[in-house]
Amino acid sequence: MTILTVQEALAEIVAHVERLPAVPVALDEALGLVLAHDVVSDVDSPPFDKALMDGYAVRAGDLASGRATLRVIDEVLAGQVPWRPVGSGEATRIMTGAPIPEGADAVVQVEHTRPAITGSDAAVAIETTTVAAGRNIMKRGESLHKGTCVLPAGRQIRPQEIGALAELGHDPLAVYARPRVAVLSTGDELVPVGEVPGPGKIRNSNAAMLTAQLRHMGAEAVSLGVARDDPSSLRERIERGLAFDALVLSGGVSAGKLDLVPAVLAEAGVQRIFHKVQVKPGQPIWFGVFRRPPREESGPGPAPAAASAELHSKSCYVFGLPGNPVSSMVCCELFARTAIRRLMGVEPALPTPRRARLASDHFSRGNRPTYHPARFEWTESGAAVELVRWMGSADLSATVEANAMALFPEGERMYAAGAVVEVFLW
Ligand code: AMP
Ligand code: MG
Repeated sequence: MTILTVQEALAEIVAHVERLPAVPVALDEALGLVLAHDVVSDVDSPPFDKALMDGYAVRAGDLASGRATLRVIDEVLAGQVPWRPVGSGEATRIMTGAPIPEGADAVVQVEHTRPAITGSDAAVAIETTTVAAGRNIMKRGESLHKGTCVLPAGRQIRPQEIGALAELGHDPLAVYARPRVAVLSTGDELVPVGEVPGPGKIRNSNAAMLTAQLRHMGAEAVSLGVARDDPSSLRERIERGLAFDALVLSGGVSAGKLDLVPAVLAEAGVQRIFHKVQVKPGQPIWFGVFRRPPREESGPGPAPAAASAELHSKSCYVFGLPGNPVSSMVCCELFARTAIRRLMGVEPALPTPRRARLASDHFSRGNRPTYHPARFEWTESGAAVELVRWMGSADLSATVEANAMALFPEGERMYAAGAVVEVFLW
């Protein structure tokens, strides 16, 4: 069987996984999703010339000498409109955010003024300051003109996009749908997290971890529990999982006696795209596509539970990850994440490496590229990465000390402290 390189495997995922359709969502639900259309401003922002300081709206010409006593003719707070234009020798008391009255062309900060008559606010004295026309005023449309494209389609929505969308009144808005992903653990040795494992048993840590990873990527993830290592238990759960946009299995994909996942997936009609990737931790990692029959062909009777209106993709993308927790985690980060990003329309979908200098010497030897749990940090001399103590693919505790994985290509090589390596942040 062909063993793909990581790049070849990722390219297969990119080639097969189609973006989900655009759907309306409430602004409150849009964080992390990707805009499906350009957002064009239908207003000027600010919508009027506005004061940027608390103080007095004046005519700059009145202050040419740096001092003046002006008659206060009006007061305008944010949310109000000015009543009177400002004439020569006049000023309007104004608060930040309020519209500038006609006639005025600058705002003098309140700190540069004092009442001209003690105990009265009818006149204001301005001393030792001149103002240029336009000072402390934000002109109408200065931030944004009507008709400007503020956010292009394809932009992933962060808090700042949420702010801009809110300013422009986009609620609800159209985004590419959030992928719905099922997580299925396999193995007779697994007991629920809340139980004390009996002899030969271990807790099912992968389900909780993978679900969390997928949610972190922006997917909606649910665990379908544990399938026992027998074909009918597996088949039944896999059928349920195939009703989701993606199905992520852990365990049962290598060459052991109980590694039934590839055969049962094939029986269920999932087309295998690859089964092995040259990667450590990992290697046995299965990816396939289940093409759902179009809905009208699925015959009469009620639709299957998950094939409701919430279901978006035409296919279910299936990953069989190796059961060892660190292998599961790394393969989910590299491969499942690429698929999730494709489904969501996030660019780039592929993992993007950063470069960092190794904090200490490292001798790397391996017949596969190795993604080593590591700690990335910014230091005074730039990006640095320190490898954490790691006992291999079953050593999940190493990952909690890590915030990244450092990539060492296959082969034998001594990396001296300071050598630059590729790092992928978790
Ligand atoms: P497998 O890929 O099924 O051969 O499993 C490889 C190793 O990973 C075995 O030691 C399993 O006990 C362990 N393993 C498999 N599934 C899980 C899981 N859901 N949580 C924790 N460990 C697991
Ligand atoms: Mg197993």
